[in-house]
Amino acid sequence: MNTIVKRFLVPFILMPPIALSLAEDKPAPQSTVQREAAIKKFLPTSDKNEHNLINLNNVYMAKELAGRASIDPLLQDTEKLRAKLKETIKTQKHAYTDVLVKHNGRPDAVDSLSRSQLIRISILMDDLLNGDLVNDIGKIIDSTEKNKEAGGLVLIKEGKVHFKALPNASTGINSPQFNANYLFPDDSFKEANAFLFHTHPFIKGQGSSNGPSWNMQASRLGVSITGDTGVALAMSKQYGETHHLVISTVGDPVVRKFNIDYFGGEATNAKEPKNQFDTESLLEHITILDLGIFKY
Ligand SMILES: [Zn+2]
Repeated sequence: MNTIVKRFLVPFILMPPIALSLAEDKPAPQSTVQREAAIKKFLPTSDKNEHNLINLNNVYMAKELAGRASIDPLLQDTEKLRAKLKETIKTQKHAYTDVLVKHNGRPDAVDSLSRSQLIRISILMDDLLNGDLVNDIGKIIDSTEKNKEAGGLVLIKEGKVHFKALPNASTGINSPQFNANYLFPDDSFKEANAFLFHTHPFIKGQGSSNGPSWNMQASRLGVSITGDTGVALAMSKQYGETHHLVISTVGDPVVRKFNIDYFGGEATNAKEPKNQFDTESLLEHITILDLGIFKY
């Protein structure tokens, strides 16, 4: 390196990180208009037509959360709030299924949550730990026919998380042992929402089925993933982002406890699997996170 280049380089090396300190001093959003704009900026959008569900749901999130001032710290210091969320989830009791080694639902999954996942899971955890949400979910469980699954959309109403049950569109043979008896009515997921949800009942003689179902199906064409995880995988590929919750009754319903797991994925930046046997790449953009056991 010659001395002229050195002379130019030194002042840059000694410069303090001005841009970084300015970002940290950014004021918190105050008005609902400012907050809506900040959430829109925080969440990803896509200009790909096939991924317009990302835009629909994320624009909806920004609009409906505009009045929720408690979201401001997350927008301001995302990493601090990520660490806080991880600690909150760690203090919960869990019901891990341990089917998948890398996707086991443990709190470490918080480290790699995307912004779309982080904002959704943060408001959900807040509302599960404060207010009536746990009892509202309990009412859905209690009003569902024995051994059957319920499901629907998770919406935001007046800034709060709200579970809206939809009718079960399944008309075929219900197979609770295969955990496949809730089917969304046609196009229901095209309505803007924060998550899709379904429940897993406690079945006498079979017990609880905690977390998203997962299975591998081998055929001449290769290996495909089925069950709840397979649905998330297919939807994330089709729509770019997909966010689901599964609520599993823990023990006999008289115990009035449920376990809630997030599962979802984002396909926009995922690398294509080398082939259909490449399950690691297939599942790379699928996240499973056990949020804990709640009593109603
Ligand atoms: Zn399921």
